[in-house]
Amino acid sequence: MSLSDTNYLMDITSRPELIFVKGEGSWVEDQQGKRYLDMLQGWAVNCLGHNPQPIIDALAKQSQLLINPSPAFYNQPMIDLAKRLCDASCFERVFFANSGAEANEGAIKLARKWGQKNRNGAYKIISFGHAFHGRTLATMSLSGKAGWDQMFAPQVDGFPKAEYNNIDSVKALIDDQTVAVMLEPVQGEGGVIAATKEFMQQLRELTTEKGILLIVDEVQTGMGRCGSMFAYQLSGIEPDIMTLAKGIGGGVPLAALLAKESVSVFEHGDQGGTYNGNPLMTAVGIAVFDTLAADGFMDSVNERAKQLSDGLIQLSEKWGFKGERGEGLLRALILDKDDAPAIVEAARNRSPEGLLLNAPRNNILRFMPALNISQEELALSLLWLDELIAQLRA
Ligand SMILES: *Cc1c(COP(=O)(O)O)cnc(C)c1O
Repeated sequence: MSLSDTNYLMDITSRPELIFVKGEGSWVEDQQGKRYLDMLQGWAVNCLGHNPQPIIDALAKQSQLLINPSPAFYNQPMIDLAKRLCDASCFERVFFANSGAEANEGAIKLARKWGQKNRNGAYKIISFGHAFHGRTLATMSLSGKAGWDQMFAPQVDGFPKAEYNNIDSVKALIDDQTVAVMLEPVQGEGGVIAATKEFMQQLRELTTEKGILLIVDEVQTGMGRCGSMFAYQLSGIEPDIMTLAKGIGGGVPLAALLAKESVSVFEHGDQGGTYNGNPLMTAVGIAVFDTLAADGFMDSVNERAKQLSDGLIQLSEKWGFKGERGEGLLRALILDKDDAPAIVEAARNRSPEGLLLNAPRNNILRFMPALNISQEELALSLLWLDELIAQLRA
C-alpha cells in the first residue's frame, strides 16, 4: 500500500494522505490500520454503514445470476425495486440511473418534454440559490452555487434562481416559459438548510395553480435520511417528480427518477443508458429498501436523530455556538467561527482512533452517519467532538 502513485489520478480535490482499505458499520480503516468513526459515510451514501451484510449478500447472489443483460431487456430486480419505490411513495413510474446528477438530468429532460406536450414548449425550471444538483453541465447550471454559472461557460440556459424559503421570489420568476420548480427538501451541500413545511406547501399550491411541475431532488434527503422514507412526506405534499441516489444504493452506484403517471411522458428513444436498471445494482437497491422498510427501522433512525440533535444543542450551549439544524440524520452544527475545516482535520488526525466529519461551509460541521449507527457510537462521536473543540479552542 503506497501513496507514491497517486499522480496517476487527476487531481480533482485535496485528499488527505490516507488510503482507506476496509470498513464495517460506522467504522472505516486506513492503510496503517488506524480506525475512524465515520460520520460522513461516503457523503450520506452508506445509509446502512460500511459493508452491511444485506448488500454483501445481494451482490454475491446477484453477481452469480446475472450482472447486466442490457437496459433494453427487463430484469427481475429492476421490476421489483420499481414496484417497492412506487408502493412507498406517491409516484407510479421509475427510471433507474447511476448517479444523482444523471437522475437530475433525467428530471430536467422529463420536465422539458412535459412542457413540450402540455405547456407550449415551456422549458424553464426555477431552482434556488445555494442549491446543489450535481456536476454535469446542466445540473451545474441548475445548481445555485456561487460562481458555478461561469465555470464552464456557456452554461445550460433556463434555470432562473429564486430564494429558498421565500415564496414571493418564486412567484416573481414564473412566466409562460416556466415548466417547473425544483428544490432539495433540505439543502445538503448548501449547509443543511431545511425548507419549511409551509414553504413546501406554498410551492405545491403555487405550482398547481400555475399548472407547472414540482420536482424534489431527494438525492441526499431520501431513503430514510430525514426520518421518513422520503423527505417530501414530512410536509404532507405530493410532488410530480422526485430523484433519488446516494442512500438508495447504500454505497453502490444507483439512482432513480420517479414520476406521476401523468408526467411520465418519455417516448421511445428519449431516455436510456447502458447501465441503467442493471440487476446487480437494483438487487442491492432491494436489499437496502427492505432493510429501511423493516418494522422499527425508521423509529430507531428518529431516536438516533434526537440523540444527535440533543448532543449538538448541548455542545452549542457549552461552547457558545449558534445552534444546530437539519432533519433526521442529516444535521449541522453552526459554529461561531470559521474553523470548521480545522476541526475536520483535527478530528481525522485524532489518535489512536480518528473521527470523520465534513465542513460544507467554513462555519458549519455536517453529520450524516449511517442510519443504523448505534447509540454508543453516536455518543462516542459527540464526546470526541467535545474533546477536540476543547483542544482547538484552548
Ligand atoms: C450528491 C447530490 C447530487 C449529485 O449526486 P451524484 O451521485 O454525486 O451525481 C445531486 N443532488 C443532491 C441534493 C446531492 O446531495
